[in-house]
Amino acid sequence: VPDVVIIGAGIIGSAIALELEQRGTNAILLEKAVPGAESSSAAAGMLAPQSEATSADPAFELGLFSLRRYPEWVATIREYSGLEVGYHVDGGVHVATTEAALENLAARTAWQKSHGLRVERLDAAELRNRVPGIRDDALGGLFFPDEGQVDPRLLMRALSLATQRAGVEHITGATVRRILSRGEKAYGVELEDRVIECDRIVLAAGAWSCLIEGSGVPKGCVKPARGQIVALDCGAPPFLPYVFAEHGYLVPRRDGRLLVGATVELEGYEKAVTAGGVLQLLSAACETVPRLRSAKIVEMWSGLRPWTLDQMPILGSGAVEGIFIATGHHRNGILQAPATALVMADLLRGTVPPIDLRPFSVARFSSIRS
Ligand SMILES: Cc1cc2nc3c(=O)[nH]c(=O)nc-3n(C[C@H](O)[C@H](O)[C@H](O)COP(=O)(O)OP(=O)(O)OC[C@H]3O[C@@H](n4cnc5c(N)ncnc54)[C@H](O)[C@@H]3O)c2cc1C
Repeated sequence: VPDVVIIGAGIIGSAIALELEQRGTNAILLEKAVPGAESSSAAAGMLAPQSEATSADPAFELGLFSLRRYPEWVATIREYSGLEVGYHVDGGVHVATTEAALENLAARTAWQKSHGLRVERLDAAELRNRVPGIRDDALGGLFFPDEGQVDPRLLMRALSLATQRAGVEHITGATVRRILSRGEKAYGVELEDRVIECDRIVLAAGAWSCLIEGSGVPKGCVKPARGQIVALDCGAPPFLPYVFAEHGYLVPRRDGRLLVGATVELEGYEKAVTAGGVLQLLSAACETVPRLRSAKIVEMWSGLRPWTLDQMPILGSGAVEGIFIATGHHRNGILQAPATALVMADLLRGTVPPIDLRPFSVARFSSIRS
């Protein structure tokens, strides 16, 4: 009998498994398909708590904590796996093309600076310097020097190998139907062909979390939010920081690919790339950096983010003893993985996490009928 069973081998389940093994707790990872092949490999890989936040809410604090943990976390993964994960701290740029947008960005500078965070205002010339080729009418912007990126495909390959080398048992092709409990205590999981007994179970099934019976996560709290990305080939990176414009973002990779992202669509479980999605992404990209019109399209894909009703993750214990929930990371699961792993491993081992998890409790959705 393993110490802990984890449902879902995306970045969240895998990160928790690695953290547990490092602390001497044995974990089994159950994955219905291929480890890492869902949302976690589809992501752009931005580590962008400052870029994504409009106020200092608990998810922002979780993201900052996670960003600070990233160097140590990727070093551990590298050590176990011997593989690179494409981690670079080149910052993120936000572009304004109207006075109103410029004012919005200025407001963001103020509250972030008051939190002791680094953020620089860019005038039009400084913006052009950071993002060569930016549209002529760009008025200025912001630069967040401490943000970075990983390459999620490389990261998931390395993390998956790291978990195996650390001693995590992987079972693939294992679809969990239900978490089993007796009285108010969990005792295992039901797969299609068998039961695995265990008294500590972690639900980390991403966008599919609400489909597993017995978890206590009300239906409709977690939904798939489709994100489409188009990858262009620019030969060499046209700039190093990622760039947020009004209608999308551009993420350069060191090999010359430029990721154009991303749609956010609540359209069910269909992972399609659509004409409308691609049109939206490419229009925004070519408006922001006009010379991208001549770049070659090399790939297009989509993934299903685990969206929640209030767009904050669900982290903590479930209503039934022995069930632990780590899901709903929506747009920020790559960023938030190291922090999630740490706090969930603390909870599972009975220590108090360094972050107050009450705002992330599934209990906030208790008025929704399961
Ligand atoms: C286009 C796009 C761009 C993104 N960009 C960023 C970004 O720049 N930065 C960032 O931080 N985040 C980004 N994200 C979000 C990020 O990808 C997610 O928040 C994160 O990957 C969620 O991880 P997860 O492990 O919960 O989910 P997943 O990676 O989806 O993993 C869940 C796993 O559970 C498995 N599973 C489901 N049901 C069962 C079952 N019943 N039994 C067994 N296994 C099951 C699935 O097969 C899957 O492998 C982006 C997402 C998308 C789609």
